[in-house]
Amino acid sequence: MLVFDLDKPAATTDNKEEKRPKGPVIKLFFWFFTFVETFDIGTFHITVGKLGSRSYSKVSYPLRYGRLGELKTPKHLFEFNLNGELKFITGRGKEWPNPSEWLKRTVTGNWVYYSTGGYDGPYDCLGEYYLPCFSYPSNNINACDPFEDHAVASAIEAWGSVHEELTKLDPKLLPENIAKFLSRLIANPPGQLRSKAARIREIIGDSVTVLPPDTRHVDYDIVPLIIADGCLYKCAFCKVKSRLRFKDRTKENIKTQIEGLRDFFGKDISNYNSVFLGQHDAMNSDPELIEYSAKLAFEAFDFKNSNLKDPSLFIFGSVASILKAGPETFDRIGRLPFRTYINVGLESGERDTLAKLGKGITVEGVEAAYDKIVAINKRYERIEITSNFIYSPDLPPAHTESIVKLIGKHFDHPYPKGTIYFSPLLDAGRNGWRKNIKREFYKLKRKIPVPSFLYLIQRL
Ligand code: SF4
Repeated sequence: MLVFDLDKPAATTDNKEEKRPKGPVIKLFFWFFTFVETFDIGTFHITVGKLGSRSYSKVSYPLRYGRLGELKTPKHLFEFNLNGELKFITGRGKEWPNPSEWLKRTVTGNWVYYSTGGYDGPYDCLGEYYLPCFSYPSNNINACDPFEDHAVASAIEAWGSVHEELTKLDPKLLPENIAKFLSRLIANPPGQLRSKAARIREIIGDSVTVLPPDTRHVDYDIVPLIIADGCLYKCAFCKVKSRLRFKDRTKENIKTQIEGLRDFFGKDISNYNSVFLGQHDAMNSDPELIEYSAKLAFEAFDFKNSNLKDPSLFIFGSVASILKAGPETFDRIGRLPFRTYINVGLESGERDTLAKLGKGITVEGVEAAYDKIVAINKRYERIEITSNFIYSPDLPPAHTESIVKLIGKHFDHPYPKGTIYFSPLLDAGRNGWRKNIKREFYKLKRKIPVPSFLYLIQRL
């Protein structure tokens, strides 16, 4: 019987004699020259070396990425990353809201429930087939809260008792790879997961309170690396702003973060291929620092050998930082071993709205920045700059008219690049607006010649 070291990429695994042939082991030859191994013990069905997709894609069914391990119980399917840390839970009983929906645990320990969004589905609104429901306050358009559902809440609790049962299994009765996988699960009880999740803030020196909307393209699975703190504007409407003044981090600090992150992600780093260069306006950083950080991260995280193809880099920008960046900055970014998404907060093309939002930019600045965004999107194949605008029923009609005019003047036919995101301000809405938001948004979307979606504020 052949045994493969599950930690190594398949191409470098060594064959050696199995020393303890035990139990009803099933090994299946799989594409990518690796083995999936399963084992049943008691009510547990364990699978190691499971391969998900190697590319992120937009699909309307549960699809996993990279490599995972699985533990099935009569009530739940638990899925684990390569460190043996719990990442997904799906309920298996009748009480579970929908068999196509699941829970995901983020690296900071937040839970996100992936909802199909009902009959009309969320794709036209979000660009994704699933509506993410958060366990924390956000601007989510969904009125229901899956975390109030007993089946969902108890699924999160269930890992504690399942973990306790696992500790009672005798590893000597298990095949080597299964025992190895199990020892990782046992090393990660709920308390350990919580304290590890808190460590990421210490490593990067801040909390990532908002991810760029474009990170949806990699299911929000990014490695965060902060290259500059603060932002240039302290907008009145913003709920995620930092109190810090804008300042680049030093190269030493970035190097230390990368070392800490490599240690934090451990074996599971091979299930990542994307970096978010934080924080709120890394585009305003020294271009040399952007290039240094991206390249160092790519090397240190060994993205060349990632289980996932097509690495991506995500950055926030602003009107000022886009206008300031010269061609050499975009040339540097365009040469990086990533496809880069830069997301810029334009907010409005109308003066009174900008004043009401307390955003210290001018209409002329917004127009000049958008002209440049369109030009960069046309010129650089591997860079996409996307824009954000505020979406609220409390803003004057001139606000949406200004956006339609600003974008429309650049295109005489639909264009596939340069997505426009609209951020709903839900706390400002009239009664019932949340209920009608999709219908209202579709009316606006039809007038925008580039892809346009709603932006849900999601934490790391
Ligand atoms: S919207 Fe952006 S620029 Fe304005 S305060 Fe928030 S983070 Fe800063």
